[in-house]
Amino acid sequence: MMKSSYDVIIIGAGVAGLTAAKHLEDYNLDVLILDRSDRAGGRVKTDEFQGYRLDHGFQVFLTAYPEASKYLDYEALDFQSFKPGAVCFENERSFTVKQGNILTSMRMAFSPVGSLMDKIRLGNLRSELRETSVNDIFEKPQLTTRSYLEQRGFSKKMMSRFFTPFLGGIFLENKLDTSSRMFDFVFKMMDEGETVIPKKGMEEIPRQMKNSLNRTEFRFHTEVENINGQTVYLKGGETLSCQRIIVATDPTPIVPQLEPRIQWEDTATYYFEAEESVLKSNIIALNYKSGSLVNNFTVISDTSGEYAPRKKHLVSVSLNRIPEKSVEEVCHDIKNELSPAFGIGVDGWKFLRNYHIPKALPQTVETHYEIPFTETRIREGLYLAGDHMLNASINGAMKSGILAAKAVVLDI
Ligand SMILES: Cc1cc2nc3c(=O)[nH]c(=O)nc-3n(C[C@H](O)[C@H](O)[C@H](O)COP(=O)(O)OP(=O)(O)OC[C@H]3O[C@@H](n4cnc5c(N)ncnc54)[C@H](O)[C@@H]3O)c2cc1C
Repeated sequence: MMKSSYDVIIIGAGVAGLTAAKHLEDYNLDVLILDRSDRAGGRVKTDEFQGYRLDHGFQVFLTAYPEASKYLDYEALDFQSFKPGAVCFENERSFTVKQGNILTSMRMAFSPVGSLMDKIRLGNLRSELRETSVNDIFEKPQLTTRSYLEQRGFSKKMMSRFFTPFLGGIFLENKLDTSSRMFDFVFKMMDEGETVIPKKGMEEIPRQMKNSLNRTEFRFHTEVENINGQTVYLKGGETLSCQRIIVATDPTPIVPQLEPRIQWEDTATYYFEAEESVLKSNIIALNYKSGSLVNNFTVISDTSGEYAPRKKHLVSVSLNRIPEKSVEEVCHDIKNELSPAFGIGVDGWKFLRNYHIPKALPQTVETHYEIPFTETRIREGLYLAGDHMLNASINGAMKSGILAAKAVVLDI
């Protein structure tokens, strides 16, 4: 039985909305979460399909995330790590950056990726960031990541063969216009922790968060069309009223008076079944050929065997853009780009499913780790959360949820 009234309504059951609910429960508040989707998780979802686990786009979790580590039970998520390092390729050329941390590999000096000076610069950057707190990173002046790395003197080769595909896969844009603060943050997180996926898929993260809520209620398949005053108008005509409303998603379509200000990066992921693993390792392969369709791929079942049925392999291929061709043509283009470097095994891959994600990441030309929590209140009774408020990451989304919930608690 649903209650007839709630202290707070949250719109959006992504990690931001779930974290806000967690904080509000600590204050014994009754929360209702509305979401138009069929389940919690927002952008962090995993579909089960023909015995495979398909994440909605290739995503990873960084164990060093400070906020996330407070709210998640890492052991229960049974994280499986990617191997530090990467296979960098272009046409038929491929070479592995390996040993130690991907960003600090000793082999870098002798690999075709960068020069000895690049290695020294990376070492300096690493020591500097180890000494810099996350809060201080987000106080630094913001440049584009490309200008920042160029100003630090990294060679053109290092920029094109490593940073562009590597960061392109993280920022989902390869001009590297994303804020240099985000680069420093991700670099530090990767250096100080591991890059992982939960054994049974990324959705285990929001599932665990949802299961940790004791009294919060959910309504799925419930789309909010509009918020006017303290009234929430649902698609289909129903209305709900509440003194405190948190919008834990892009608010512009539903709060009419807000200027649209979020620009989004898009991406596409294509999944294939394979009889053999062409990488034979839990590693990520980066395509540095300029203008290519594929940015990176991984045989994700080499990182967690639970992603594929026994004796099968699951390949996750991330594209630089949402293609406008038919699935058959895209699969053909993907195989054409990958088979010169990885052999005829690629030709036998069987297409499983694709995900086109037009709103994958909010652009983070301006980014923050934290803002005063009172800034999440845009007027009395209406609060905003979501990764767009701070920075595009699971950690940023969680932090934004906490800030909005704190503002609500202060006002009650
Ligand atoms: C392909 C991809 C790769 C990524 N890679 C990483 C990564 O490697 N590491 C990392 O940390 N982060 C990554 N991210 C980012 C991370 O997933 C997001 O930052 C985070 O999930 C955002 O959470 P959120 O709660 O702010 O928003 P969302 O997850 O978008 O949640 C918003 C929720 O609101 C609901 N909603 C929206 N409008 C309405 C409405 N009108 N009515 C009702 N409900 C509504 C939606 O259904 C959704 O459930 C990636 C994202 C994508 C898509």
